[in-house]
Amino acid sequence: MANVADTKLYDILGLSPNASDNELKKAYRKLAKEYHPDKNPNAGDRFKEISFAYEVLSNPEKRELYDRYGEQGLREGCGGGGGMDDIFSHIFGGGLFGFMGGQSRNRNGRRRGEDMVHPLKVNLEDLYNGKATKLQLSKNVLCSSCNGQGGKLGAVQKCTACRGRGMRIMIRQLAPGMVQQMQSVCSDCNGEGEVINEKDRCKKCEGKKVVKEVKILEVHIDKGMKHGQKITFGGEADQAPGVEPGDIVLVLQEKEHETFKREGNDLHMTHKIGLVEALCGFHFTLKHLDGRQIVVRYPPGKVIEPGSIRVVRGEGMPQYRNPFEKGDLYIKFDVQFPENNWISPEKLTELEDLLPVRAEAPNIAADAEEVDLQDYDIGHGSAGGQRREAYNDSSDEESGHHGPGVQCAHQ
Ligand SMILES: [Zn+2]
Ligand SMILES: [Zn+2]
Repeated sequence: MANVADTKLYDILGLSPNASDNELKKAYRKLAKEYHPDKNPNAGDRFKEISFAYEVLSNPEKRELYDRYGEQGLREGCGGGGGMDDIFSHIFGGGLFGFMGGQSRNRNGRRRGEDMVHPLKVNLEDLYNGKATKLQLSKNVLCSSCNGQGGKLGAVQKCTACRGRGMRIMIRQLAPGMVQQMQSVCSDCNGEGEVINEKDRCKKCEGKKVVKEVKILEVHIDKGMKHGQKITFGGEADQAPGVEPGDIVLVLQEKEHETFKREGNDLHMTHKIGLVEALCGFHFTLKHLDGRQIVVRYPPGKVIEPGSIRVVRGEGMPQYRNPFEKGDLYIKFDVQFPENNWISPEKLTELEDLLPVRAEAPNIAADAEEVDLQDYDIGHGSAGGQRREAYNDSSDEESGHHGPGVQCAHQ
């Protein structure tokens, strides 16, 4: 009896797998009457299932196959012609066979080919200004000489070895009542499911039904498009007989820019200034992504603290589909201090007179200990540096900005 425990078809008819032919017939008649589309127009699917189950189980050969090997044995045995696939997937659920993976079906039940996904590298200038570019790629198209038939009309024969399925299921008996099923590509037809006589083969495609063709796609990169955004060319992927071609999907890959770093529609950059600029105002020029020279001015009297950020409104990236609206440009200032001993001690006194007044000198107790303040390079991690890092880590976790940490779990 069935070691592949599949009783769905019996279930549909409300029978046990031991049901006699007579019981089968009775059950079918009763259910068919009940669910006939004339009487019960909303039960079309149910009626189809009932008819299918009866069709299989009333045929001794098919019933035997089903009992022994379940749906797979059945599918193999029936040869899975035309509309058969639909009722199979309706009853047993989709994706029955490994080789169906990666493909989907459209509304008409026609198989849909896989999408061809290509990365497309673009620089920030292209995403700022927009760009039309051509992309050349090679794809399979149906052979025009044989209309994708592979040969003359009638030359194509269904492969007898695999009954046209392209796959063969080997069933090996391991022990009485225990079988192993293995699925492999049919060697007679190389998984094509059909064979064409050598002399009838289409000369152009050599019976392959498809030929390689170079296709040039015109790609429009719109202003403000983002990294990871997809540009889709519907139905432009590889063609194959009986298959609805998938799409060509280009996925934008934004290249790093040497000046700007993008975050959404905003741009970020770092600018180095000297101490004199930080204290006395400055202006500098900048080449923007559209080639414009922009002048950034900061008036004397306003001070830039090291590491501080200023913003230029409206000089970020254009918004996708609304390119006249732009993000902002954030400039972080890296203030370069002068070297040691850059000025003579006398001048230093003069400078001090100009600078804001010092804080009052502290009171030093008689037994205070004077220590030595040494140069320290933050890049060369000493014990002190590591301690600092450890501290930073834990403070990040407390604020809950890090991944799904333990702390986040009860927030
Ligand atoms: Zn051809
Ligand atoms: Zn075959």
